[in-house]
Amino acid sequence: MHKVYLKPGKEESLKRFHPWVFSGAIARINGKPEEGEIVEVYTSKKDFIARGHFQIGSIAVRVLTFREDETIDNSFWRRKLATAREMRRSIGLIGRTDNNTYRLVHGEGDNLPGLVIDIYARTAVMQAHSAGMHMERMQIAEALTEVMQGEVDNIYYKSETTLPYKADLFPENGFLKGGSTDNVATEYGLNFHIDWLKGQKTGFFVDQRENRALLEKYAHGRTVLNMFCYTGGFSVYAMRGGALSVHSVDSSAKAIELTNKNIGLNFPDDPRHKAFAEDAFKFLEQMDDNAYDLIVLDPPAFAKHRDALRNALMGYRKLNARAFGKIKPGGILFTFSCSQAVSKEQFRTAVFTAAAMSGRSVRILHQLTQPADHPVNIYHPEGEYLKGLVLYVE
Ligand code: SAH
Repeated sequence: MHKVYLKPGKEESLKRFHPWVFSGAIARINGKPEEGEIVEVYTSKKDFIARGHFQIGSIAVRVLTFREDETIDNSFWRRKLATAREMRRSIGLIGRTDNNTYRLVHGEGDNLPGLVIDIYARTAVMQAHSAGMHMERMQIAEALTEVMQGEVDNIYYKSETTLPYKADLFPENGFLKGGSTDNVATEYGLNFHIDWLKGQKTGFFVDQRENRALLEKYAHGRTVLNMFCYTGGFSVYAMRGGALSVHSVDSSAKAIELTNKNIGLNFPDDPRHKAFAEDAFKFLEQMDDNAYDLIVLDPPAFAKHRDALRNALMGYRKLNARAFGKIKPGGILFTFSCSQAVSKEQFRTAVFTAAAMSGRSVRILHQLTQPADHPVNIYHPEGEYLKGLVLYVE
């Protein structure tokens, strides 16, 4: 086994169970580990401190265990996946008749850095974000089949765009198990086509489930505008909530097609819904004042990296300012940021600045985040990425 020795003092974050070893913390490596191989991490005093997946890049090791006696074998994967499943079961997400859509594994949040698994009815979509998880995909798929106790027939692997390109892993998307094309899943009693073949992420934004359910409660009698609608998740909940009308906007024609499909699955031929393939900024600029009294802004991550932060904050400011400028008095704004690089405070300041620019009286009704099946590892606070505010605009 290859051994990684840290520089003096660089074990501090690992002692506090932070699951990453940065390349700058490493003094030397015994041997020449391949990307994705398991390595052992030692302090400068040669004490064992962690074991994890090695990778070339700023995060050099993603920790799988802090226990010297725990080896990474088939039983390790079974134990970890069973723990993840038990958590979802105990919080009431598994075994419901009205819901079979949830996240089973959320990377660091489930002590499995680099791995995401979403469940859509009888299909699991698995995504590797590290070379190590990619190398172990077959063992993980096997453990998943066992742990899910007959609940999963298909495992689709979707990592073509999530793995480091330089590692030469050549991942191919495809089924590791089964191959069903039945891709309708149910979320809180609503049906959705999940496009795991071509869609973004694992095919659906499972992380907005609770926020969509909250929006449903405010939709009654309102004219709703769902910006950056993608699969139309918020729109479908607004329809069920009794909205007067629901308009969905996305710049991607494919997303508009998906939205129309999902509305059709739940509310066929309902004239309340219309979808527009248009740029969100342009749409907001051109729409009439007071046309909507419930607006959702759920843009893609404006800042994927720290250096894009300034532009991202400007983007949030501009977007929210346009919504504040046009929303009907007494309207409700659901506004989100899913950029990991943008903190809760920074996002709130951007929205606050936009509100001030519009000169309107704005109150915070709710502060939203990611749902319980996207848990934040308490030792890895960076894992909190989804931020939302529900605002009452006079
Ligand atoms: N709200 C969605 C997720 C949004 S993902 C949900 O609950 O599932 C972000 C979406 O924004 C993508 O579908 C992308 O096509 C769209 N998008 C990106 N830039 C855009 C722009 N300038 N105008 C409109 N849509 C845009």
